[in-house]
Amino acid sequence: MTEYTVLKAGLKKQLEEIERLYPGASYNVQVEQSRQREYPQLNGITYFDHAATTLYSSSLIDAVSSDLKQNLFGNPHSLSPSSLETTRRIQDTRVRVLQLFNADPEHFDVVFCGNTTAAIKLVADAFVAQDSDVGSGFQYRLHEDSHTSLVGIRQVAGSSQALSSNQMSKFVNSKGGDGFGLMAYPAQSNMTGQRYPLSWASTLRQNRPGWYTLLDAAGLVTTSPIDLSDVSAAPDFVALSFYKMFGYPDLGGLIVRKASSSVLKNRKYFGGGTVSFVMNPFEHPSKNSSHAIRKSGDPHEYLEDGTVPFHSIIALDHAISDHRRLYSDFKRISQHTQALGTLVYESLKARQHVNGTYIADIYTDRHPSNPSIQGATFALNLRKSDGSFVGFNDVLKLASVRDIHLRTGGLCNPGGVMKWMNLSEQEMRKNFADGKRCGDEWDLMNGKPTGAVRISLGAMSTLDDVARFLSFIDEFYVEKTASCIATELFPPSSSATKISKISIYPIKSCAAFDIPPSKPWRILTQGLEYDREFCLIHQGTGKVMDMKMYPKMALIRPFVDLETRELSISCKQASTTLRIPLDDSLPTHSHPITKKCNSKVCGDTVVVQAYSEKRISEWLSDVLGVPCTLARYPSAPDGGGRYMKNHLRQANGEIPIALRNESPILVVNRKSIDPINNVISKTGGKLSDISVFRSNIIVDGPQPFDEDRWLELKFRNSSSTIQLLGPCRRCHMICIDQTTSERSPEPFVTLSKLRTVNGKVYFGQHATFISDSDNQIELIQVGDELDISYIDLDSSDTDSGESCSSGNTAITADTAVDTTEPAAEQERAQTSCILQ
Ligand SMILES: *Cc1c(COP(=O)(O)O)cnc(C)c1O
Repeated sequence: MTEYTVLKAGLKKQLEEIERLYPGASYNVQVEQSRQREYPQLNGITYFDHAATTLYSSSLIDAVSSDLKQNLFGNPHSLSPSSLETTRRIQDTRVRVLQLFNADPEHFDVVFCGNTTAAIKLVADAFVAQDSDVGSGFQYRLHEDSHTSLVGIRQVAGSSQALSSNQMSKFVNSKGGDGFGLMAYPAQSNMTGQRYPLSWASTLRQNRPGWYTLLDAAGLVTTSPIDLSDVSAAPDFVALSFYKMFGYPDLGGLIVRKASSSVLKNRKYFGGGTVSFVMNPFEHPSKNSSHAIRKSGDPHEYLEDGTVPFHSIIALDHAISDHRRLYSDFKRISQHTQALGTLVYESLKARQHVNGTYIADIYTDRHPSNPSIQGATFALNLRKSDGSFVGFNDVLKLASVRDIHLRTGGLCNPGGVMKWMNLSEQEMRKNFADGKRCGDEWDLMNGKPTGAVRISLGAMSTLDDVARFLSFIDEFYVEKTASCIATELFPPSSSATKISKISIYPIKSCAAFDIPPSKPWRILTQGLEYDREFCLIHQGTGKVMDMKMYPKMALIRPFVDLETRELSISCKQASTTLRIPLDDSLPTHSHPITKKCNSKVCGDTVVVQAYSEKRISEWLSDVLGVPCTLARYPSAPDGGGRYMKNHLRQANGEIPIALRNESPILVVNRKSIDPINNVISKTGGKLSDISVFRSNIIVDGPQPFDEDRWLELKFRNSSSTIQLLGPCRRCHMICIDQTTSERSPEPFVTLSKLRTVNGKVYFGQHATFISDSDNQIELIQVGDELDISYIDLDSSDTDSGESCSSGNTAITADTAVDTTEPAAEQERAQTSCILQ
């Protein structure tokens, strides 16, 4: 039996226990049986992001497709037979949607809109309009665990306040005669999976006349029903997204309690379909004479502007039927997901490192065996055996190579992040001032996580998914032995090395151009000449494209021809070669480069000059299948102004790096790939070529990972030097084969096991060139001999680096291991290694 089957068998037993203890929790074996047929897109994949969207079934897509092919659907605003057919289907679907929630069509209406956010905004707009008639602004109370889309209402409310659960309970339970207000909260937190009581709505109604409740149900409805059968207790407005229930169609809805609907009539704007008559469109409306008569009747009649998304509504009808056929009802899904959720939760909670410390902080104080307070969505962060956190971005990267799909980051829930990460307002402000932005790489700041890993289960999740996820956690994050695996560092046998290869990447993220060994190449402070001087930009977004998103870029081969002074670009798939003159000066009127683009590279805004010539954009767009064009970074030292990141050791102030990632030059030691490949070959994985590290200079060092301790490489034939600046942090980009553009899990998986320090994975060294000549320009060539000087480890800065800074230090054992920790001291005495 493999480790995996042992794990799975254990989990199966555990699940049976769970089911015995909590009646109602029943794992649905039928899901396992139908999954292959209904969800072929999940083959080999563990999808744990149902809170973002669940997945559609094959049979749903077939049903929609055959309906659209066989029937003629006109725009519902006409009166032709095809239009009437559409209207009929929309009317039927409205009723079926309400039935999903036990909502009586006599008392409830559903307004179709884009998504939950649009539904929330409809309510907010109406409250603003009412308010502009009354004057002083409506009051707003929202739960602290709200999605950003509810937080946004604060911006338009007269006054607002975020409340904890206790405060919200108190608020709804205390009598108040005060005016006009809106209270909003999630039925289930999109971050922590915690569920909040539907009963707040009715209590508020009883105690505070003039107050309304907006329930954000988007998080809940993926795995749980909502019961609106008691009209007197129901929330006034319920916002949700249907793709979160069924995976498809992309459609949202606002369920309105008709008795509360009049407040929504105040919305000022009207669109086609929402008015019954327009008197005089040529006149400006005044306070007392409106020029349009709004439709009366049900809320959808005056709230759905323009043509409703009628094909989507028809698809929704099929989604409801298909879902019923596959799962019968949401109660069943709830039982299924709560049982699996309990299993994940308990398994993670119990996991320990070899020294007994727990591996996961799960951000909830509630147990998923009680579905009325906790759903099958969990936010968590992992810890190492020394108690420090693992960055959530690193978890995401490794999970991706194991085909496990999760969500990480701030999770659109700023209040939840502050609460659970224990971040004060001051810390939030400081993180922002230090450059933290949503969705960036900074997952740990001052040792604290800036967000979390979220796992969320759905109707089609299986025991196998849980087993695969836990086996991933065991493989990478549970520290099982106190010893370390990495190579020992012997005292260097020699302190000399040679340049064995020089490569530049004339177009950022495209293939390397290897400098022929016979040719000397110019090197400047900011790096090798023509390295990352060009890039591709997406014509829609204006953003610089990278290999992570467009792996095919690896197949575009640039060639710098210094004789003809051209950059020629070729690709196996293209029959022609694209030629770009190297010496064109920057744009003039007749110049082919005309467009200035503000583009982003690694979070910095840079200004690049985009080529607008059709032959260029067409060639590139054809090859990649993406609308894009070439752009050039002006080589003037201040043109656009990107400078080296200050977490690296640097000698001489700010060094310009143009479009290069973090530093002017990347140096790798050819020997360092060997221990990695040794491990890969034992596991039967695909051996890696050194080219995946996309270095500029490959040297043959005396031994693997010797480069971690290098301070400087001094050229024998001049007195110039390459200064090493610190280790280079890696992501799963190194899994893209540079000749085929195919992805595999290696070498990232193995590298992560061998070379993780402070939660970051390293290979190679950042570097800069220090010239001793006056004009700062020199030539280097393959075969150049270099003398190594080593970092004086005893006197080096032993600040082993907080989170965001990838290293002030070399990452040998002496600096990477927290030397204040006695265990680490022991370890160091036994063997000098390069591991946490
Ligand atoms: C997903 C989600 C939203 C946002 O839904 P959209 O479809 O992106 O508008 C809002 N609230 C919660 C609780 C969610 O889970």
